[in-house]
Amino acid sequence: MRNPMFVYDERLTDLVFDYCRWRLSLDPVPLDYGGSGSQSLAASLEGLMTAGGVDPAVVMDLFDKTLAAAVVSVDSPKFLAFIPAAPTKAALLFDMVVACSSLHGTSWIEAAGPVAAENQALRVLSDLAGLPEGAGGCFVAGGSAGNLSGLMVGRDTAAYRMGDRAPEHPVVAISEEAHSSVGKALHVLGIEALLVPCEDHRLTGRGLRATLATDPRGDDVIAVVATSGTTNAGIIDDLIGVADVAEERNLWFHVDGAYGAAALFAPSVRHRFDGIERVDSFVVDPHKWLFAPFDCAALIYRDPRLAKAVHSQDASYLEVMHTGAPEEWNPSDYAYHLTRRARGMPLWFSLAVNGTDAYRDAIETVLAVTQQVADLVDATAQLELIRRPELSVVLFRRTGWDRSDYEAWSDRLLADQIGFVMPTTWEGEPVGRLALLHPDTTIELVAEILATTV
Ligand SMILES: *Cc1c(COP(=O)(O)O)cnc(C)c1O
Repeated sequence: MRNPMFVYDERLTDLVFDYCRWRLSLDPVPLDYGGSGSQSLAASLEGLMTAGGVDPAVVMDLFDKTLAAAVVSVDSPKFLAFIPAAPTKAALLFDMVVACSSLHGTSWIEAAGPVAAENQALRVLSDLAGLPEGAGGCFVAGGSAGNLSGLMVGRDTAAYRMGDRAPEHPVVAISEEAHSSVGKALHVLGIEALLVPCEDHRLTGRGLRATLATDPRGDDVIAVVATSGTTNAGIIDDLIGVADVAEERNLWFHVDGAYGAAALFAPSVRHRFDGIERVDSFVVDPHKWLFAPFDCAALIYRDPRLAKAVHSQDASYLEVMHTGAPEEWNPSDYAYHLTRRARGMPLWFSLAVNGTDAYRDAIETVLAVTQQVADLVDATAQLELIRRPELSVVLFRRTGWDRSDYEAWSDRLLADQIGFVMPTTWEGEPVGRLALLHPDTTIELVAEILATTV
């Protein structure tokens, strides 16, 4: 008798597909409650892991009523904390195709079709950044994995770039405002960070040059990481100035655009990214502002051959993967991973069916609403705008509030299902932060949230 786990089951299929159909049709999705709910999840889950299995209808019901309600819906237009998500319907649906087809994307010999399609999506991003024809890379799980894999290439190719000048103990220059994942990547790589002071929260060529000239470790620097833009405030570094210094000193130039580089699609702010065409590697997370489902980050190299020399895995059972076919491209050669799902396919499908204009328009909408939010903060008596947003993050001060007031406000908004916001720290002081990303986040919705600060 066949093992029942592998037999097509109409009832089980309907159960799951009906749920997916319903979830996709919610407009808008409810915000829900995350870990702030009072019931014990452990108690609800008790008894589910049995020798004989539980009726799938019971398990789905528990998922729907208990577990799914304990998630603050990151794709709700009211989710304005951290970095939200807003996957397109096409991308979500195609993610199901990736799952149901066990679509993997490790190597050309196993999965040329999805790899070719993923590369087509990467090409769109390379073109937006202005990278040359030969640029390429792969999709990894997130910006963190992308930063680590990119900087690993920067480290291991320093001798190639710098020759005799390559230091024995390499150091990477990063700004004070770099994302925490960059520091973590350097820790994994066993590389020290040289912190470059910012000018108005921005890493500049001038600041980098001054630090390299005066810090005793300046000559040990092999790479520099710029951010476009910062997660906390959406500030884009001086990419032209940093690229100039990187070029003078043969440094690896990595740009962390995990959140902000999506705005390469937006003509209104494209000039702020000038200089990105000079990177050696860069990262952008489609699972953030390019409307793809988790987990999807694009890692792109100017010269992928350098990455391949670093990341190719040597194992006798893998030798057959390198066939030398003209189109051959093995995503496993471009990051520290091996087996991977074809996680770029939902983005590829959505780009193909929606067209790039729809992406441009969605991002421009978010940028425009962000400016309206900034104007509204400016016009509200008890609020003070901290700076004009460059991308889609608004920081503001509520006069008279300390951290506990911001936190109580955040709790109240979630309890009332008006919005999900989180305070942050700006120049040592707690401030309010709104991160916009969903094109359905309207000024009216944000006005309702801000009205509760009186
Ligand atoms: C989100 C983010 C990261 C980390 O990306 P993950 O996808 O969460 O791993 C890195 N850098 C910046 C600037 C980010 O916004």
